[in-house]
Amino acid sequence: MILRRGFLAGGLAALSWPASAQDDIRFTVSGSMEQGSLAIGQAPAGSLVSLDGRPLSATTDGRFCFGFGPDQTDASLITVRYPDGGGDSRRYTPTVRQYEEQRVNGLPQNTVTPPPQVRARIEREAEAIYLARLYDSPGSDFLSGFDWPAPGIESGVFGSRRIDNGVPMSPHYGVDMAAPTGTPIHAPADGLVRISADHYLNGGFTLIDHGQGVSTAYLHQSARLVREGQPVRRGQMIGRIGATGRATGPHLHWAMNWFETRLDPSLSTRKPKPDPL
Ligand SMILES: [Zn+2]
Repeated sequence: MILRRGFLAGGLAALSWPASAQDDIRFTVSGSMEQGSLAIGQAPAGSLVSLDGRPLSATTDGRFCFGFGPDQTDASLITVRYPDGGGDSRRYTPTVRQYEEQRVNGLPQNTVTPPPQVRARIEREAEAIYLARLYDSPGSDFLSGFDWPAPGIESGVFGSRRIDNGVPMSPHYGVDMAAPTGTPIHAPADGLVRISADHYLNGGFTLIDHGQGVSTAYLHQSARLVREGQPVRRGQMIGRIGATGRATGPHLHWAMNWFETRLDPSLSTRKPKPDPL
């Protein structure tokens, strides 16, 4: 609480700094700058960075990141206090996206309306994921961008409103890649495995921490090839595509988060998508 008050005071102080031309601002932020995207910043080494008055982690050489929520319309205020005592603030407003509606039928009904006896298990698994996404690791593996983790037809896009077996569900926060069961899944960047487990709704599930709150997750796998606590390298095979959990057929659901903020992983990929199988 004390830390937070300190940063709020710092944010107010920022408003009284003399206005300077935007070209004079000594930090940069880049990314697709749309709803559901990850933004990456560069400030002078040793700077203190905050987002909306809340401190953000930064690497020793001044790299930091933050995410725009899928439905965010307000600006994100980045304030940077430089080691020499100066500072700058700047607002970033994400571009608004149009999300589609997708109807999915043929899902196992016990995954759309789970029976009461599995509710405690589903809640436990959701909480484990929530907690894993709270890590603010000092790593910066997210900085070098992400590769597509698997080939396949893109059968589901980020943000679509889902109606599963006629039941309105929460939006689809991930990218679906349909490919035959057994197709290899590769780590899209270096990271540390936080969860590797079989979940009721997610099926074979893996969550990788890429540093500073950036994580990626892999759902519905037929095989998981990495353990919790294991470091992984970009390109390393981490599992195989399957149809476990709430799925109509074999596909990878690939998700990305910045802490609890859902992101579209396709906006952080550094290469074109591989050809469909
Ligand atoms: Zn999906």
